[in-house]
Amino acid sequence: MDLVVGLFCTWALDYRPFAGISQERFETSPFANSTFTPPPERLLNVTVGEEFHQIPLDDIRAFIRPSCQVCLDMTSELSDLSVGTVEGEEGWNTVIVRTARGEDLLRLAESKGVLETRAYP
Ligand code: SF4
Repeated sequence: MDLVVGLFCTWALDYRPFAGISQERFETSPFANSTFTPPPERLLNVTVGEEFHQIPLDDIRAFIRPSCQVCLDMTSELSDLSVGTVEGEEGWNTVIVRTARGEDLLRLAESKGVLETRAYP
């Protein structure tokens, strides 16, 4: 059974200038790993060596790829399930069920105890 799980995506960074920030601030490039805190916090968590840092999103916003400014598919509309975090609730994602196949998989995961779900208000 083919199944497509799409991720919410609102933008991506142009790698080279982004790596330049790392080089400029931490004298290394790229970061060992990085994650974004969900809204409303909007911080980039980065680990450089053994050190943890946070960079405000506004400091890197200029490096968002131009294509993202005109993207028409930020919730992966052609997938069976779209998944992402937008509300900033730790440990939870928002899931949009788009097809019967997606619905079947979600219900199977629930029945097996793999996923916990609740209705989105
Ligand atoms: S073009 Fe759209 S899907 Fe691709 S990285 Fe940018 S926002 Fe995400």
